[in-house]
Amino acid sequence: MTLTVQPHRESVGLKTGQLYLDGQWGPGSGGETWTHRHPATGEAIGEFAIATAGDVDAAVAAARKAFESGTWSNARAGVRIKLLHRYAELLREHAEELRALQALDNSVPLSFSSNIYATGVEAAADVFDHHAGWVDKLGGQTLPPYQGGDHLAMTFREPIGVVAAILPWNAPFLLYAQKIAPALAAGCTVVLKPSEYCTFTVLRMVELLVEAGLPAGTLNVVTGPGDPVGETLINHRDIDKVSFTGSRAVGKRIVEASAGTLKRVSLELGGKSPALVFADAPNVGLAAATTIGAVTMGLSGQACVANTRALVQREVYDEFIAAAQGMAAAVTYGDPFDPGVMSCPLINEKQLERVLGFIETGKKEARLVSGGERPGGDLENGNFVTPTIFADVENSSTIAQEEIFGPVLAVVPFDTEEEAVRLANDTEYGLGASVFSADAQRAFRVSRKLRAGTIGVNGFQIEPHLPFGGFKQSGLGREGGDSSIEAYTELKSVYMPLTDEMM
Ligand code: NAD
Repeated sequence: MTLTVQPHRESVGLKTGQLYLDGQWGPGSGGETWTHRHPATGEAIGEFAIATAGDVDAAVAAARKAFESGTWSNARAGVRIKLLHRYAELLREHAEELRALQALDNSVPLSFSSNIYATGVEAAADVFDHHAGWVDKLGGQTLPPYQGGDHLAMTFREPIGVVAAILPWNAPFLLYAQKIAPALAAGCTVVLKPSEYCTFTVLRMVELLVEAGLPAGTLNVVTGPGDPVGETLINHRDIDKVSFTGSRAVGKRIVEASAGTLKRVSLELGGKSPALVFADAPNVGLAAATTIGAVTMGLSGQACVANTRALVQREVYDEFIAAAQGMAAAVTYGDPFDPGVMSCPLINEKQLERVLGFIETGKKEARLVSGGERPGGDLENGNFVTPTIFADVENSSTIAQEEIFGPVLAVVPFDTEEEAVRLANDTEYGLGASVFSADAQRAFRVSRKLRAGTIGVNGFQIEPHLPFGGFKQSGLGREGGDSSIEAYTELKSVYMPLTDEMM
């Protein structure tokens, strides 16, 4: 029988998606809606409002009014800290419901969302707890007089203003938290636009934020597709900052659009991150399982930082490929609510066609050793592609250079450490990298030479207090820890003589 997720839709209790403007939920002024289709089945799951230009205007005006009034930024620090901690607890209490909503949105299986920290609700809650701690620590400096005399030279860290936060569809818990928590901790107000492919989960997280007591206007939500809703937002003259996570192409568009008013911009973009597997890796089988796991499990390779290029030293090349093939064969697909299902389909038909196109290119460029197919049977209506491994890949080839954003691993052989570093850095991206070696000196030496934002040594993790972001075309700025606070504040200098003498 063909797969259906409709029974889960009934049990999760999906609501119609509404906009949230100035403290009020409503249908949007144009009456137009977007129908969300489930990526595993093609079934219509629910509808949400498509915001008009007027709705975007109303959202920005509400955020501006709230910012100017200081209802949030000037509230007692204790009130804001407690609210952010209370919200973190609410996220934890509603974790099961949020994971179920995500499964209806993007089909990420419960087996993954309940067990993998970085993309889970627990990590999002931790990000809010972490940033609650910044609220009463946004201080500046008092500097000694440079030219002598009697005056004060001081710096203050102040909220940047009204932030447009634009999210992708693939990891809604963490990516929402990485923007909203520091923006609120810094005293900003926000207009949030979730991805049209993962809206219901984000709307529920916002409902919980309202339940935690956030004042009206502090956060507003506009829903709908990138064009026109996101476009209207990034071009809006009264937005001070755009904080975006998504594709490189849209990131470039945001840089162009920001030029008009010189908006501040933070960009978390794509990657083609390498895993460097040396012959002295502590466990080559584990290195292979970790690498192919990140490219196939849970998100089916639709993860920005997945190591989709494996650079493997020739002595252990065959061992690596055999272990990766074994792991690839074990990955299961289907109903995201089934605890035995490990991975998800591609998010939409456009992405399915794109990935299949790269697989055809790969067959001409390299040796296909696993997958590259669409499973049929009860999965025929979903956007599924089996875990795909290409061996003997040239690093200059299309499949080693382009972000495919699907379950496709390109394995490139190397001989020396110097060659491995050169190949790893031979990319326009620079989001992450992993080094597998039992030689600690080599692991650190290589880590320092890699041009990427986050390096994993024999393992990889994203942590709430650790900056995350990209070198080169993987982004601008960082999210996480104090780098997030810098991203949502402006530094102000104040000079003040302490006598009546002219300075
Ligand atoms: P996307 O760029 O297609 O969409 C991201 C968001 O931008 C969505 O909300 C979309 O509606 C909006 N958007 C689209 N066009 C727009 C426009 N012209 N103006 C304003 N907004 C617009 O990306 P996606 O498919 O949702 O996500 C996948 C991409 O995100 C991949 O490239 C992945 O690597 C990247 N990503 C990066 C990180 C990171 O932290 N670096 C994390 C997750 C995903």
